[in-house]
Amino acid sequence: MSDERKHIPSNEVENAARKQLEERGVSIESIADIVYQMQKPYNEELSLDDCVMSVDRVLMKREIQHAILVGVELDVLAEKEQLSEPLQSLVKQDEGLFGVDETIALGAALGYGSIAVTTFGHLDKVKVGIIEKLDTKDGKQCHTFLDDIVGSIAANASSRIAHRQRDVEDGLSEEEIHLKDEEDRL
Ligand code: MG
Repeated sequence: MSDERKHIPSNEVENAARKQLEERGVSIESIADIVYQMQKPYNEELSLDDCVMSVDRVLMKREIQHAILVGVELDVLAEKEQLSEPLQSLVKQDEGLFGVDETIALGAALGYGSIAVTTFGHLDKVKVGIIEKLDTKDGKQCHTFLDDIVGSIAANASSRIAHRQRDVEDGLSEEEIHLKDEEDRL
């Protein structure tokens, strides 16, 4: 094996993650719909466009991109019956006690604070919108990891909006808010 490390450009990772979501039938708008439902009660002024922008911003974060790539890969391999047993059956059947899907998704929500974590827990129980669709098993497709990852993205985008709203109320300038966004991109 060569010791040479291949440089993996960040934009390649981001594009791959976005493409995976799209190919698995999850649009940014469908995630934004969930965010809207989660945040509208706390934010009269909130528009669906704000939610689309927030989801888009969350998808720029590496930890989220990595979670998408890992989760979708495992779902797809399970669909093709290409995992080894007993993992194949655990993932394919979305075994009740198999919690790695939630663990990865929860891990991806930690960077957005407690609102993201509690919203993720809520979405895990009350499956909303596209999450419910993904959770409904039709026998062919496997979304064991994807439903939780979508919940995590929606929870993160919701938390972002809540914190931004406070920044606006606090009178922070657009520039200051933008700067915080940039710091958020880790
Ligand atoms: Mg799951």
